[in-house]
Amino acid sequence: MDEVVSRNPATGAEVGRFPVADAAAVTAAVDRARAAGRWWAGLGFGARRRHLLHWRALVTRRMTELAEVLHAETGKPIAEGIIETAAAIGDIDWAARHARRVLAPRRVRRVLPVAEASAHLEYRPYGVVGVIGPWNYPVFTPLGSIAYALAAGNAVVHKPSEHTPAVGQWLADTFAEVVSGPPVFQVVHGTGETGAALCRSGVDKLSFTGSTTTAKQVMAACADTLTPVVLEAGGKDAMIVDTDADLDAAAEACVWGAFTNAGQTCVGIERAYVAAEIYDEFLSKVVARAAALTVGADGTADLGPIITPAQLAVVQRHIEDALDRGAKAVLGGREAVRPPYVHPTILVDVPPDALAAREETFGPTLVVQRVASMAEALRLANDTRYGLGGAVFGKRQAISVARALRSGMATVNDVLSFAGMSSLPWGGLGASGIGRLRGDDGLREFAHAKSIVVRRAPSVLRSRTFERTERDIARVVAAYRLRYGRRP
Ligand code: NDP
Repeated sequence: MDEVVSRNPATGAEVGRFPVADAAAVTAAVDRARAAGRWWAGLGFGARRRHLLHWRALVTRRMTELAEVLHAETGKPIAEGIIETAAAIGDIDWAARHARRVLAPRRVRRVLPVAEASAHLEYRPYGVVGVIGPWNYPVFTPLGSIAYALAAGNAVVHKPSEHTPAVGQWLADTFAEVVSGPPVFQVVHGTGETGAALCRSGVDKLSFTGSTTTAKQVMAACADTLTPVVLEAGGKDAMIVDTDADLDAAAEACVWGAFTNAGQTCVGIERAYVAAEIYDEFLSKVVARAAALTVGADGTADLGPIITPAQLAVVQRHIEDALDRGAKAVLGGREAVRPPYVHPTILVDVPPDALAAREETFGPTLVVQRVASMAEALRLANDTRYGLGGAVFGKRQAISVARALRSGMATVNDVLSFAGMSSLPWGGLGASGIGRLRGDDGLREFAHAKSIVVRRAPSVLRSRTFERTERDIARVVAAYRLRYGRRP
């Protein structure tokens, strides 16, 4: 049987071996999930909430163990693994606690043509949700789907990245310690082929997090069966710094936003547009802080390795392309690329058509550019096919600038904090994806609306019958004129 062999990207040490699921194995997992999903949905909101809160408590008690698995498999610093796990714990907790409020049956207002009936709305689980995840945040990203899909009453089949199977398996194994009956949450391992098989396996909804290129393939595969999708794809997020910003706070946040997880963050800050009056001071503060960051494999460094060789090649290409086109590296540069690491690199005078200015780099690089006004900052920040997150530092105009960013999320005087805000929807526009995870919208993403109308009395306006008379239709006209005919 084929295996996925997971290795530490910095040391090459083997982390684990996992059997590859072929198309038949994926379909079998989905069939098992369908029966398990019926059982799970039948438990109701209260019992599911209890199970999910038990799982949350178990993950929390063992969060340092999970951070160790994350470190072993991705090379990311232990502290980053803890932060990632903490955000995911918040997701399990929030989804468990709010599913009933958002999804349970409720009455809604009746309207005139059927005033004799009551109107009822509920959100029912799809059945089986497939979740395909990336390697950069293999706990936080899939749990933004898994926790909410489970809370909504679905069973889940998760395909982790071939680079992070041990993390995916850890999540399913700990869930099984809490829910030991039917396989409500399963993991299937393999490469993109296994992911493609999951798209075609008959799942009732597919949630994908990964690159924009793969998102298109997933959507195309799901189109065959009209399987609904939620797609969380790449980004090219910008930070905008206004003249009245707290520059120390802005520089500290910019460095973390750009270099956390060695820049392998979909909502990482890849570009900074800085008001001309404070540009030099801001840039020197950012460079000083970034130059002090440590890089290494031991789990205590600030930056770990680039997780895959293919990604390292992309980062290297972006740095070289920018420098070849006349950009200057004020930190790092060509010599910053020392496989499997890339040291923090800050680029200025980057031409607008350079890869580093336009395409997702997904590495520890930052492009900093001077702007004459907030209007120019917004024009440049929004000049991208992506639209995931973004950040604004400033006082007077900061919130209105954040509103005008063409993105699904934004922070003011902070970076990336939407990642810990489980109560808010997560997702992007354009090449960054379709649909929303987390928050009320994220729960509804994994449930379909079901409308029920219950007749309570004879028709007030008899019209939906061939037994109606001319007098009935005249009454409809009179009632509508009275109700809707007046000028507002
Ligand atoms: P990829 O698109 O390469 O892979 C994502 C997942 O899809 C992996 O599990 C991969 O399997 C699988 N896959 C590959 N080919 C197919 C296919 N044809 N059909 C179905 N599944 C397939 O992304 P990366 O893993 O490289 O992740 C990095 C990307 O993820 C970045 O672009 C980043 O911006 C984005 N991302 C977006 C987030 C968001 O919330 N918007 C959050 C985090 C990351 P395998 O790895 O085994 O090949």
